[in-house]
Amino acid sequence: MSILSKAYFHDEAAAFEYLENILWPDGPVCPHCGGYERISKIKANPEKRVRQGLHKCGQCKKQFTVRVGTVFEASKVELHKWLQAVYLMCASKKGISAHQLHRVLEVTYKTAWFMAHRIREAMRSGDLGPFGPMGGQVEVDETFIGHDKTRPVERGYQHKHKVLALVDRRTGKAKTMVVDRLASRELLPILKENISEEARVYTDEAGCYRRLRDHFLQLQSVKHNDGEYGRGEVHTITVEGYFSIFKRGMKGVYQHCAKKHLHRYVAEFEFRYNNRVANGVGDATRTRVALAAAVGKRLTYRRANVE
Ligand SMILES: [Zn+2]
Repeated sequence: MSILSKAYFHDEAAAFEYLENILWPDGPVCPHCGGYERISKIKANPEKRVRQGLHKCGQCKKQFTVRVGTVFEASKVELHKWLQAVYLMCASKKGISAHQLHRVLEVTYKTAWFMAHRIREAMRSGDLGPFGPMGGQVEVDETFIGHDKTRPVERGYQHKHKVLALVDRRTGKAKTMVVDRLASRELLPILKENISEEARVYTDEAGCYRRLRDHFLQLQSVKHNDGEYGRGEVHTITVEGYFSIFKRGMKGVYQHCAKKHLHRYVAEFEFRYNNRVANGVGDATRTRVALAAAVGKRLTYRRANVE
């Protein structure tokens, strides 16, 4: 018996039951009116076109399934295939391409692409709160990736996408964001919002961090150019390790990525990193965490049906 032989990966009724247990731990809740007291289940009947997982709310008289209000809504793809897709994306350290999903799930490439982006939307973390409270240690680093097609190719990194990451050493969690420019004027508001003022902040010697010292009094930089690796606790090795997984994945699996989608890929890598084995989260739990987060995410795509 392997994880892939679980019933919810193959059987639609089992898939609904699995997702319902995660999203409705205390029983079904009507997404239309919030009622939960008079909900009845309607038996699936393909001949009469009664869908799987259908419920009816006695309060507002409306029908719904557990997919309403989740990233799986407005999709014709069967739920058990969605569960396979979520598992594959959660269990592959470097991610899985839409091409591969298309072949494995036997859906069209376009559908696989939409599914992957919706799952990334589920993975997008809510607010983790400011990093480094009570004088905790936070590493900050930047990296350059791909090619921002809106900019001409130049020497240096100006034409590449710029990604900023923070790692809170106490929790082992990362926060990643795509930024337009690596300038202190742009970085300060982002870092102020995401790092507590009393944190011990460690960066490299990039010029953009210098002026941040006025705000973060405990900011220290590692001088990589002078051959310095770190001074005791002052280093950025953790965040560099995070970026190395991100860059290997982006290179190997997601070769061409437009800037408007980059934040979703970033969210995917961040999700797996924050829910990694070293943080006590295995593949199965990581999948459950992603499924639990599938609800309440505003869909930024047109609500066109995904076939
Ligand atoms: Zn209702």
